[in-house]
Amino acid sequence: MSEDFIIGGERIAPRSRRLIELRLPPLYVHSPLTVPVHIIRGAKSGPRLFVSAALHGDEINGTEIIRRLLKQSALKRLRGTLVAVPIVNVYGLIHQSRYLPDRRDLNRSFPGSVKGSLAARLAHLFMTEIVKKCTHGIDLHTGAIHRSNLPQIRANLDDAETARLAESFGVPVLLNANLRDGSLREAAAEQGIPMLLYEAGEALRFDEVSIRAGVKGVIQVMRSLQMLPDRRSRSKHPREPFVARSSVWVRASASGLFRKVCALGARVKRGEVLGLIDDPFGGEEYEVTATASGIIIGCSQIPLVHEGEALFHIARFEDIKTVAGEVESFQNEFMPEEARRNSQGEEPSIV
Ligand SMILES: [Zn+2]
Repeated sequence: MSEDFIIGGERIAPRSRRLIELRLPPLYVHSPLTVPVHIIRGAKSGPRLFVSAALHGDEINGTEIIRRLLKQSALKRLRGTLVAVPIVNVYGLIHQSRYLPDRRDLNRSFPGSVKGSLAARLAHLFMTEIVKKCTHGIDLHTGAIHRSNLPQIRANLDDAETARLAESFGVPVLLNANLRDGSLREAAAEQGIPMLLYEAGEALRFDEVSIRAGVKGVIQVMRSLQMLPDRRSRSKHPREPFVARSSVWVRASASGLFRKVCALGARVKRGEVLGLIDDPFGGEEYEVTATASGIIIGCSQIPLVHEGEALFHIARFEDIKTVAGEVESFQNEFMPEEARRNSQGEEPSIV
């Protein structure tokens, strides 16, 4: 017997696949607006997992992850219910912006309220229609605009079930992130719902490694929840994840034009030069050096910087060498064939 699943006032039967549109306040030009929600129910009851993306309207890698996830033929053998929300912040997506039109950050507006701000109302809708009806959740994010993140999971790893799911996702870097006031993760935790936050790539860009690793990660979490059958042949060892001890931001030592020397995923030593800032007016060149040894898990992608801007995010680990090896093998595994050939080939001649 499978329990009822009602969303947007509609009952979704077991062994069915539906698209429900949750109504939002319309745009001021009277255009109606809805949040699309895909619901897939298996024949057997089981966990109810939500997978959401574009809570920050410009973070669209997750939207593509969900598109590819919904095409997986393995979903025919689903146990339980998958609730996929490819675009939560529809307003932000229209404006290619992280925020809502009221300039609020949706991920600081949870759990929200019926009579609050626009952000609070959307947060409330998401909580009542999606989160409270699920047993587990994965929220897909990217770095902010002009910032890229190495694929990583942020979660409350002090909770055993959350830690187990985080490990099954299969990315090498885990961050034991404190709950942020007003975040979806905090609101879900208050409901006793284990939730992972996947951070990968950059806002307003599709990043193939991040997308591929994200699709595989969600599927692996579903396997560990026994929503999908386990693979029969386990030829490869599951990737060993590493929990960062802490992380630090390296900031611009001056304003100017910035060029990176180290890439995302690189292992760096304290004091090592990570990039250079050139002052086109004064002609001076400044070094940006690592303030800690670790792995670069986030970096700025724009060459225009002001003094004090965050340029590199370095995660610190007990055993950096091992983590660096895992990060490299991870990047190689998910890099598209063509990019891999180019990265190994010789530099093309410019004459
Ligand atoms: Zn985000």
